[in-house]
Amino acid sequence: MSKPVLTIVVPCYNEEEVLETTIMMLNEKLTQFINDHLVSEESNILFVDDGSKDRTWSIIYKESLYNGKVNGLKLARNVGHQHALYAGLINAKISADCVVSIDADLQDDVNVIKEFLQKFNEGFDIVYGVRDKRETDRVFKKTTAEAFYKFMKKLGVNLIYNHADFRLMSKRAVEELEKFEEVNLFLRGIVPLIGFPSTSVYYNRKERLAGETKYPLRKMLSFAFEGITSFSITPIRFVLFLGLLSFFTSILFGTYFISLKFLGETETGWTSLITSVWLIGGLQLIAIGLIGEYIGKIYKESKRRPRYSIDINTLNLKQSIIGRTVKSGEPNHRELL
Ligand code: UDP
Ligand code: MG
Repeated sequence: MSKPVLTIVVPCYNEEEVLETTIMMLNEKLTQFINDHLVSEESNILFVDDGSKDRTWSIIYKESLYNGKVNGLKLARNVGHQHALYAGLINAKISADCVVSIDADLQDDVNVIKEFLQKFNEGFDIVYGVRDKRETDRVFKKTTAEAFYKFMKKLGVNLIYNHADFRLMSKRAVEELEKFEEVNLFLRGIVPLIGFPSTSVYYNRKERLAGETKYPLRKMLSFAFEGITSFSITPIRFVLFLGLLSFFTSILFGTYFISLKFLGETETGWTSLITSVWLIGGLQLIAIGLIGEYIGKIYKESKRRPRYSIDINTLNLKQSIIGRTVKSGEPNHRELL
């Protein structure tokens, strides 16, 4: 079997402090893979500059001029990690058989890429890098991140626990990813939806090599919110649930208040007032919840997600074996195979 062309995609935003070391380390790794005949000589590294304001692009550009293995993609403005990574994946898959995405700060272990490649050779289309422990993260980041995974699971969103965006994807997996036309990108949620054979490889996540995190709390919260609202209509359902709850409570309380009235223990006008407050409150929430259900449907439609991805199609298999399309009624077509 011919060796696969690997492209390592690295999104970079204001990474001048760490980038030169990153280029050196990734270049060294890739050269090693090529020398070990693990990947093709055409393999390369694609740095995506996500509208950096520092020297990031000039570092990438200079390197790409004299290093054939290094390529750069400069985005016109800062679009955020997810979109920058997506841009890299889509451009890389044109020439690559498999792509590995990794952050520029090298918190993820580059040595694990070798295991990714082994899994790819075993036939897996998607290999997730999963953090074994979160020892290097601060307690706050660790607990909030873990709570996030649990909460997402409750909302019915299937995420790989403790997996960030360090993963290998085959060409056809990226091609399927491209069919997800949604603009609100949350790759960690979308990639498991593709559904091709996938597996995980475990590693220890390190500290940032240099520079500051580009994900302060504000960005982290908006990322989490993006994840929830891009994948789940459970919050809308919750409104409907509240409405129904309030409506049934109003019936219970209404009966109670009316019975109080007949027992003569209330002020004049109180019964009708309090019963209608509960009833109308409940009915309004139900109405909002119902409208929400429809908005939820529109939201799902507007994503235009692919309904299915084909893993194996025997028709194409037959075609590639005998070099032409086989009609099922054709005599002797079994013998041809
Ligand atoms: N990044 C990016 N665009 C942004 C923010 C971050 O391309 O707007 C890149 C950044 O350069 C890094 C990766 O995304 O390669 C992850 O960011 P960071 O390491 O700061 O996040 P953390 O590991 O702290 O969650
Ligand atoms: Mg990082």
